[in-house]
Amino acid sequence: MCHNFKKQLYLFETCYIFKDVNKKFVGRHYDIVIAGGGMVGTSLACTLGKNAKLKEKKVLLLEASASKPFNIGGKYSNRVVSINKSSKELLERIDSWKHIEQSRFATVKQLQVSDALSDAFITFGENDDISYIVENDLIVKAVSVEVKKCENVNVLYNAKVSEYILPDYENNIVGIKLDNGDSYTCDLLM
Ligand SMILES: Cc1cc2nc3c(=O)[nH]c(=O)nc-3n(C[C@H](O)[C@H](O)[C@H](O)COP(=O)(O)OP(=O)(O)OC[C@H]3O[C@@H](n4cnc5c(N)ncnc54)[C@H](O)[C@@H]3O)c2cc1C
Repeated sequence: MCHNFKKQLYLFETCYIFKDVNKKFVGRHYDIVIAGGGMVGTSLACTLGKNAKLKEKKVLLLEASASKPFNIGGKYSNRVVSINKSSKELLERIDSWKHIEQSRFATVKQLQVSDALSDAFITFGENDDISYIVENDLIVKAVSVEVKKCENVNVLYNAKVSEYILPDYENNIVGIKLDNGDSYTCDLLM
């Protein structure tokens, strides 16, 4: 605690761009801060939060937009991703795939690439799944449900990062400022 406070004080005394917020700074240090709580950021936060070896690490996920209810069902969203088997396995490891499975997705069983100037073509996936098409909102929903169960992960909505300062040779922590004036420091910004 004392060590962190000294590090924070040092950063905010020496970094020019944070001079103005120095007085307002309330001293919040995290081991890891993730900027952006979309599909990738939330999955990352969840993966860190569910890793037993990292359970002592404090993680902060900052998402610019408001927390929104996910209404999956009815009309399909046009924002989808094709995730490969490794990504599916990652989602399984962080207990999120089951939420997708219980909802909806489509499996790509075969892929054929044809040449425009000849009859040549190549086919992938004779016996195995190639990928899974999942709506972006559904992935975010699935990982958001699980990240909330991680005690060492704090998720902040309406938290838009407006400035940050990366470590240099003199100090080794990162300073982050939100557009609402709140400030944080961390050892690793992702
Ligand atoms: C209409 C549409 C259709 C698509 N279709 C396909 C498809 O068919 N197949 C495919 O593979 N991919 C598709 N994509 C792309 C796919 O959605 C993206 O690759 C994927 O969403 C990237 O995820 P991400 O988490 O990196 O970024 P995003 O989903 O963009 O998430 C970034 C998050 O960061 C937040 N943020 C931004 N700035 C800040 C800040 N300063 N501070 C804090 N938070 C911030 C945003 O609010 C957002 O929640 C499509 C995209 C769109 C828009």
